[in-house]
Amino acid sequence: MNERQLDKIFIKNLEVFGRHGVLPEENRLGQKFIINAALYLSTREAGLKDNLTNTIHYGDVSRFMTSFMTEHTYQLIEAAAEQMARAALLQFAGLEKIELEIVKPWAPIGLPLESVSVKIVREWHQAFVAAGSNLGDKENHIQKGIASLRECEDCRVEQVSSLIVTEPYGVTEQPEFLNGMIKLRTLLTPWELLELLQKTEREEGRERLVHWGPRTLDLDIIFYDDWVIDTQELKIPHPDMQNRTFVLKPMAELAPYFRHPLLNQTAEQMLAAVLHNI
Ligand code: ATP
Ligand code: CA
Ligand code: CA
Repeated sequence: MNERQLDKIFIKNLEVFGRHGVLPEENRLGQKFIINAALYLSTREAGLKDNLTNTIHYGDVSRFMTSFMTEHTYQLIEAAAEQMARAALLQFAGLEKIELEIVKPWAPIGLPLESVSVKIVREWHQAFVAAGSNLGDKENHIQKGIASLRECEDCRVEQVSSLIVTEPYGVTEQPEFLNGMIKLRTLLTPWELLELLQKTEREEGRERLVHWGPRTLDLDIIFYDDWVIDTQELKIPHPDMQNRTFVLKPMAELAPYFRHPLLNQTAEQMLAAVLHNI
């Protein structure tokens, strides 16, 4: 999220006991690990009011990490870091991003090294997903699409636009569409989000017969933060979104000032341009 500058709280050299490792004796005997973390959040309110309830208590986070490291056993510190970062982001409201390092001071490799560590950065991302349907119970298909995102543990649906009836695009000899936009926060990568959306499409009976043909449910990632991805499998921002009223209308309803990272235009401006050219 690049929307605003975040503040940081540092936790340095927290010693914890854990049984992580690939060797059986590491799992049996356990060993000491050191944790370093930077918590990204806004401390402005807490700073002004001098009130603990407006911030994240570093004591709570330290206790949380200590328990997490003792209660779980992973072979890799990569896995311990991945799962603990996720758990912390889900647990602590206001925690937007975490930088997490797990250090293993006594890595058992029989060579004189001081320590090994992994450091990862994980954060909440902002995504916009366009939903469309023109077969069967259209509204129900779209609601199922929204429900699947609500049920995803790593997603928080923030807002859903009004659903609008639109004329088919591209292949015009087909029933009219119902379209909408979903604004969500997610810990999933764009590729993982795409996988979830495609699974939901399949569950709603989507068959890919004709490109741009009739479909029970179509879920497209329109934006993911200000990321630009250009592969065969996944293109973000959606490459044709700026030409589609049925995408821009619900987008402008939810986030009129959201700026396209390549075209440098807001949703509202892109919508005005499309409507002007019709
Ligand atoms: P369009 O993408 O022009 O709206 P469509 O939605 O009808 O067309 P699909 O048949 O649903 O196209 O998808 C074809 C492929 O597009 C998918 O298999 C997927 O890998 C790829 N794709 C690329 N970028 C995206 C994106 N941003 N969101 C969803 N799918 C994408
Ligand atoms: Ca589409
Ligand atoms: Ca699609």
